Amino acid sequence: MRHRPATASSDLAAAFDRVRHILRGGAAPDHHLHLHSALPAALSAASYSSPDPSPSPGLQLHALALRAGLLSSPFVTTSLVSLYARRPDPAAARGVLDSAPAPRDPAPWNALLAGLSRRGLFPDALDAFVEMRQRGLVPDEFTLPPALNSAALLSNSPTARSLHSLILRSGLQSHLHVSNALIDAYAKLGAVTCAHKVFDHMPHRDVVTWTSLLTGLARSGSHDSALGVYYGMLRTGVEPDEFATAAVLSSCAGSTALDLGRQVHSAAVRTGFDSFLSVANSLVSMYAKTGSIDDARTVFDAMRRRCPITWTALIVGYAQNGRGRDSLAVYEDMIRTGCRPDYVTFIGLLFACSHAGLVGAGRAHFDSMERVYRITPGPDHYACMVDLLGRSGRLEEAAELLSRMRTGPDPTVWKALLGACRVHRNVELGERAAEMVFRLDPTDAVPYVMLSNLYSRARRWGDVARIRGLLRARGAIKEPGYSWVGVGPATHVFRAGERGHERTAEIYRRVEEMMGRIREEEGYVADTDWALQDEDAAGRERGLAHHSERLAVAFGLLELPRGAPIRVYKNLRVCGDCHVAIKLVAKVYARVIVLRDANCFHHMRDGVCSCGEYW
Ligand SMILES: [Zn+2]
Ligand SMILES: [Zn+2]
Repeated sequence: MRHRPATASSDLAAAFDRVRHILRGGAAPDHHLHLHSALPAALSAASYSSPDPSPSPGLQLHALALRAGLLSSPFVTTSLVSLYARRPDPAAARGVLDSAPAPRDPAPWNALLAGLSRRGLFPDALDAFVEMRQRGLVPDEFTLPPALNSAALLSNSPTARSLHSLILRSGLQSHLHVSNALIDAYAKLGAVTCAHKVFDHMPHRDVVTWTSLLTGLARSGSHDSALGVYYGMLRTGVEPDEFATAAVLSSCAGSTALDLGRQVHSAAVRTGFDSFLSVANSLVSMYAKTGSIDDARTVFDAMRRRCPITWTALIVGYAQNGRGRDSLAVYEDMIRTGCRPDYVTFIGLLFACSHAGLVGAGRAHFDSMERVYRITPGPDHYACMVDLLGRSGRLEEAAELLSRMRTGPDPTVWKALLGACRVHRNVELGERAAEMVFRLDPTDAVPYVMLSNLYSRARRWGDVARIRGLLRARGAIKEPGYSWVGVGPATHVFRAGERGHERTAEIYRRVEEMMGRIREEEGYVADTDWALQDEDAAGRERGLAHHSERLAVAFGLLELPRGAPIRVYKNLRVCGDCHVAIKLVAKVYARVIVLRDANCFHHMRDGVCSCGEYW
């Protein structure tokens, strides 16, 4: 929603002078007429020029209108309603409407509706809409946008839909700004299909139309569709504005489209949109989320203005890219500049501490969260702390922290404890943690797999078989894993053991070669504890070799030029055996491999990973 620019206070003075001048002319025959046209202008200037809550210029003008008997004029009433609706006291706006003779014109009501919606008083705005209709007034093209916006921001889908049918019945969809408001409302409600339908039926579209759809799609996580809309915008010659730019960047991050992200970045530099805070924030976060953390830093350093979102994007970015100490340093700078951390900042910070193994710093930040910043820790914060404590072998302390958790038990947190138990082979505590996750979410296969790994590491084969039986009996669902790699503008997706790709034969040959080379040159031995199939040892090893991330890496080796990093993304966590194998592949092929899994980025080069062996 865009606002018209505030009128300068000099406009108010001029408008006031004009009213005073007319009043001095007192007896002139057209005095009333002049006043009738000058007052609304002065009122409008008064409502835009004075951000302070004192309504004194408005009050004076109101008194003037009253004295001159002009309150019956819909223009004057509309301007007065509009003036008061911008103040913290919308009841006064309502008072003007009630004292005016029953208007036949919807304009004063539209002013009330717009004012209430702009002030965030959405239920009042919808009440006013109902009342105006009860009074027999016919809504027009200015009534609908604030009503739609109010319904959307109240998450009131039924009202938005009935407003839509009202628009269709009254033919108001021909007004561009009404259809734009409809797209915006559906987008805010997450009803992107409806937004798309309205968009498709519009004979004319402007930059607001495209941007509303694009931001809606980006916000609802339909990133590929958002990118499609962005390309459509460019094809039809519509110049994206700063809102569209920020939205498409967030979708570039969401669908790991780094190349497009870079193109949008250069376009933003050309248009100067990169100076908008929202665009610059989206750039920092796009680079951080696609593993180009140094580019994120460059954008960050060039920014003249920053907000908590900016700082948090970089803190989280460093944390996820295995640069925990940089993350903490940025946090120190943030505090020094007087910027206040928020809920998300602490997730990044604690994640950084847990991945860098900084137990003392982690405890101190966790403690300061509530004591200094009055932020109640949530499941994500507890999960980081459990990771941190558990990873450093303080399993009992982690369990004790969980028992003090006030936000109620959460599967994420117990899974973190189970993960730590697996690392430290603590079967007893691991069983307890797994039991908790089974109880909270019996259909999630992950804890069964983790517990089965824990048993197999402890060589308790009977328990391994029992857990697998349980997994099958309870019908727990294992989310299918897949990996993808970008080559030019195309994205190639791989599933474990899949043979659907047109270059399957070459890819599998390259996998064999990779495994052969790391075995011979680096002494790699497959860790079949990570294999899940109930097969013999050879079968399990083959299963591991054909995990989706290895197929994607093999394809990257085939397709990408020598100096280019291979960027592979995976929807789930990378398994321990792939982690070892791909690190060694990076070494023997002298390539940088950036693997992003569901947890963090792994920047692998020369046999070493940025995650510090923590996945
Ligand atoms: Zn694997
Ligand atoms: Zn790693």
